[in-house]
Amino acid sequence: MTQRSTDLPPLAALSAPSLTWNETSPHSDAFDDVYFSRENGRAETEHVFLGANQLPKRFKEWQQSRAFVIGETGFGTGLNILCAWDCFEQYAPSTARLHLLSTEKFPLNRASLERALSAWPSLAHYAQVLCAQWPEAVSGIHRLHLNDRVTLDLHFGDTTERLTLLDGLVDAWFLDGFAPSKNPEMWQPELFEAMAARSRPSATFATFTCAGIVKRGLKAAGFNWQKVAGFGRKREMLAGHIDTPPNDTRRQSTPWFTPPAPRPANHVAVIGAGIAGCSVAAALAKRGIQVTVIERDAPGAGGSGNRQGALYVKLAAETNNQSRFYLSGLLYSQRWLSQQVPPSSETPLWQPCGVVQLALGDKEAVRQQRFMARHPLPEAVVSAQTERLSELAGVPVSARHGLFYPQAGWVRPKLLCEQLLQHANITWKQGEVTNLQQHANTWQVELASGETLTADHVVVANASLANRFEQTAALPLQQVRGQVSEVKLPKGVQGPQRVVCAGGYVSPPVEDVLTFGASFVPNNATNEVTPTDHQRNIDELRQALPDWVAALETAGVMLSPDTLAGRAAVRAASPDKSPYAGPVPHAQAWQQDYAALRKDASNVPDIHGEHCSGLWISTAHGSRGLASAPLCAEVIASRICDDPMPLELSLVDYLHPGRRIISALIRAQ
Ligand code: SAM
Repeated sequence: MTQRSTDLPPLAALSAPSLTWNETSPHSDAFDDVYFSRENGRAETEHVFLGANQLPKRFKEWQQSRAFVIGETGFGTGLNILCAWDCFEQYAPSTARLHLLSTEKFPLNRASLERALSAWPSLAHYAQVLCAQWPEAVSGIHRLHLNDRVTLDLHFGDTTERLTLLDGLVDAWFLDGFAPSKNPEMWQPELFEAMAARSRPSATFATFTCAGIVKRGLKAAGFNWQKVAGFGRKREMLAGHIDTPPNDTRRQSTPWFTPPAPRPANHVAVIGAGIAGCSVAAALAKRGIQVTVIERDAPGAGGSGNRQGALYVKLAAETNNQSRFYLSGLLYSQRWLSQQVPPSSETPLWQPCGVVQLALGDKEAVRQQRFMARHPLPEAVVSAQTERLSELAGVPVSARHGLFYPQAGWVRPKLLCEQLLQHANITWKQGEVTNLQQHANTWQVELASGETLTADHVVVANASLANRFEQTAALPLQQVRGQVSEVKLPKGVQGPQRVVCAGGYVSPPVEDVLTFGASFVPNNATNEVTPTDHQRNIDELRQALPDWVAALETAGVMLSPDTLAGRAAVRAASPDKSPYAGPVPHAQAWQQDYAALRKDASNVPDIHGEHCSGLWISTAHGSRGLASAPLCAEVIASRICDDPMPLELSLVDYLHPGRRIISALIRAQ
C-alpha cells in the first residue's frame, strides 16, 4: 500500500464552486454534474447511502458507549448527512451518539447551502442548525456540535488528503463525489486505501456508482463489494464491507504518540475549574459522562477569573503547527461560544466584535505582510491600514498597518466557567487534590481534607500547578504572572468597539469599565496587584493608542497606577508556548524505552508509548486559553470516548504532553 505523508498541506482558503441553479437544485459548472437527483434526491439518498449501509437497523441496535461514525466523501449540500442525522433521531436509542465526518474541497457558501437545502422542507430544522454553524472556507477540520448527541466534523480539503490525516475510525462510508467519469482525479486507488485504513473492522460502504475503477479500487484496498439494485432508473449500485482493515502505520516513526487503548468512562474527575477544566468537563458531560470538578478556590478563580478576556491569537508569518492549532482553536471557540447559554440576555458570555492587531513598528508590519502573503484567508483574517483600522477600532489609531480577525472578540471567562458547570452531569466540589493513586482500573483522588474520590479517568487542568503530582512531575511548566488594569470611563467617553491588541490588549468597555493589559512576567507566581504592572499596562496602552489615551486624559480619565483597579493571576506556559493536551506519559518508562534516541535520533525503538492509563492533562494555555482550551477539551474528550479527533493526526501529536520528553532525549545526543 502507498504510504502517504501525514505532513499537513498548506493552510488555504477554499473556493466556492461555480453553480448553475435549476430552482433549488445546484449543478456544478466545473464537474458538469448535479449535486442530487432533481426528481427525488432525498429518496435516492435514503436508498443508496442509508439503506445500503443498513443504517435504520444498525442505529436501532446501537448499544455501544462510543459514537456510531459515518464518513462521507464530498459533503456537497449536506443532504446525505442531514438524512443520516434524521434517520438516527428516528431509530437510535436515546443514549446513542452519532459522529458524522465529511470531506469537501469546494464548500458551498452559506447562501447556496441554504438555497439547496430549502428543497427539503422536512429537513428544515436540521438545515437551520447546520447553516447557523457553517464554518469559514478555510482548509482543516471544523467541528460542529449539531446537538448534544450528534457531532459533524467537516474536513475541508481534498478527500484523499484529508482521510490520510484523519485520526479516527469509521463504521459506515458514504462513497459520494461526482461521477467517476466527471471527477476521475478523486476516484484513485489512494482514496480507497485511505478509506480502508480509517475503517473499523466490518465497516460498510455504499456508493451510487458501479464504475470499473471503483470496483477495482475497492477490491484492491480490501473491501468486498456486491452489486445491488440502484435507485430509480439506475439499475445497479455497489455496497459492501471490509473484514479486516489494514494496520495504521502512521506512527511508526513516532511510536511514543500511539494513543492508549480506550477504557470505560462512567465517572471522570477533573482537577481545576478554570477554562481548561470547565471546558473539558462540559465536553465529557455532553457525552453522557458523570463528571466531578474539584477546585481549590472557586470556578474561574485563577487565570480565567477576569471580568473580560480577549479571544485572539497571534499567528506566525510562516505556517507552523502552533499557528495551525491556534487558528483551528480560534474558529472552534467562536462556534462553541455561540452555543453556550448565557445566564440572561443582558449578560452575554462573549462578544464576537472582532480583534484589531496593530503593527507598532516596521518589523511587525513586515511580519504581518509576510503572514498575509502566505495565508490568504479572507474569512479569518484581513489586513488593513490606518484609516480602516481606526474605523474598525472605533478610536483613533496611528499604526500604519494591522490585521483584523473578524471572528475573534472578548469573553467573560469567569461567568463562562460558572455557566459550563451548570450541566446536569457535572458536580463541582471545593477542595485541594494532593495525590493521585492508580488502582487496577480506577483512580483514587485524595483531597487535603482527607476525603477520597474514585474515578475511571482523571483530567489534570489546574494550570501552573498541573505538574505537582508524582505522575505529571516530568512536564516542564513555567509560571507566568499576568495583571490586568481597570478604569471606569465617565459617561460620554467612548471606548474601542473591538478588542485592540499590540503588545497587550484593550477590550471594549463593559458597564463603563475599561479593561486592559495584561502584563506578562515569567517565573513569577505572585498574584498581588502591583503598581509596577499597572504602569507597564499603561505604557503599552499609550504606545498602542497614543491619540486616544491623550483624548482620555483630556476628558479627565486618570491613567495612573494609584487610580487603577486590577487583578493579577498566575498562568501556565510550556517551553514551546503551546498547550499540553492529551494522555499523561509514563515519564520513567519513556526515558528507558526511548533511551536509544540519545545516541541516534533515527534509531526509533518499536515500542508504543506507555501512559498513566486513564490520566489526562490540559494545561499550558498561557494567556490564550480562550482560543486553545475548548478545542483541547474536545481532543481529550474525543480520545477518552474513542471518537474521531477534531484535529489532524500530526496536530494531535503536536499537543501531546510527552513531546518534551522526546525532544529532551534527542537534544541530549
Ligand atoms: N453528498 C453530497 C450531498 O449530500 O449533497 C453531494 C455530493 S456532490 C455530488 C460531490 C461533492 O464532492 C461536491 O461537493 C464536490 O465539491 C466534492 N468533491 C469533488 N471532488 C472532491 C475532492 N477531490 N475532494 C473533496 N471533495 C470533492
